[in-house]
Amino acid sequence: MKQKIQEKFKSLFATEGTLYMSSGRINLIGEHTDYNGGYVFPGAINFGIMAAIEPNGTDKVKVFSIDFDEYVEFGLREEDKPAQQWARYIFGVCRETIKRGGKVKGFNAVFAGDVPLGAGLSSSAALESVFAFAINEINGNGIEKFELAKIGQSTEHNYCGVKCGIMDQFASIFGKEGSLMRLNCKTGEYKYFPFHPKGYKLVLLDTCVKHELASSAYNKRRESCEKAAAAIKKNHPEVDFLSDAKRVWLDEVRDQISQEDFLRAEYVIGEVQRVLDVCDALERDDYETVGEMMYQTHFGLSRLYEVSCEELDFLNKLARKCDVTGSRVMGGGFGGCTINLVKDELYDAFIKTATEKFTEKFGHAPKIYNVVISDGARKL
Ligand code: ADP
Ligand code: MG
Repeated sequence: MKQKIQEKFKSLFATEGTLYMSSGRINLIGEHTDYNGGYVFPGAINFGIMAAIEPNGTDKVKVFSIDFDEYVEFGLREEDKPAQQWARYIFGVCRETIKRGGKVKGFNAVFAGDVPLGAGLSSSAALESVFAFAINEINGNGIEKFELAKIGQSTEHNYCGVKCGIMDQFASIFGKEGSLMRLNCKTGEYKYFPFHPKGYKLVLLDTCVKHELASSAYNKRRESCEKAAAAIKKNHPEVDFLSDAKRVWLDEVRDQISQEDFLRAEYVIGEVQRVLDVCDALERDDYETVGEMMYQTHFGLSRLYEVSCEELDFLNKLARKCDVTGSRVMGGGFGGCTINLVKDELYDAFIKTATEKFTEKFGHAPKIYNVVISDGARKL
């Protein structure tokens, strides 16, 4: 990838750009907690986007995407928004930097990546982050890292039509090899935890399906959470988000909310606690407990929050059968990947069985991504 980028940069611009890199991410645990003011627990991974970049002394951005085999040029004013989707991420990052008082001079860039697109590993955050980080450096803006993550998030909101939380960009910017990060979505506080699963592999199985329910179901889940939190708040005024509530406080309002809202809230309150339990377990190097929590999360997402689907439940069950230590759906649900923590010696048998059985049932094989927790945005 590096050589391809450098060669292309040279052939297009006759010079050598500076290389930057940023990463996709996984989330070990903490799902549907972000909009409930709870914790997420992501880490950057060994799949990323690399860019060569150099100021060009003009007021234009000239950028080539190796993966789309496409060259785009755009100016830096709001009305210069490019037509190509991929270029809008870069344009958005430039605009959001300018909105924050940063300088953005024209530049040349060539980039490529290996984060699978739309698989739930956040290739878009990797793209935003590598440019947010590089543009900040080459212009000497000195914007702090959390704000760089917000530049990526605002790019999604304002230039790509995706109303996402901060987790993906946060993970991509702050990621560190061998560390997961517990982010408090209410306060923005974060803490690194060691993640060295010696003797285990972390592997994602991509169902390659996306069921259409996803966005309407998402809005309904949010409404349920808000209703439950509002009911609890009547007794406990300090509760602004479900994550502020104790489990017993939910029981107090059982008769005041629907059975459905109750189950949704039960999942969220449980999940917030599970993140804390996993952090404790990691500090003891106790990966068996980590795995058990992952299964509990899957159960909650499938049966209480009801955002799983047949393909995901199938892979989760299969993981149990193959003695995989931990397994759960990762991301919003209704498709995408399961994330699995599996002992080295069981890995081959698990992948073989999962591939065969899944193909037998659904007519196509799941895609396999072996992930390692790696560094986020950086200069190479
Ligand atoms: P994801 O879940 O992977 O973030 P998104 O739909 O949010 O999926 O973002 C994918 C989009 O990001 C692509 O359609 C493309 O515009 C851009 N993108 C991601 N990776 C690359 C890449 N390697 N080269 C060019 N554009 C990319
Ligand atoms: Mg994305």
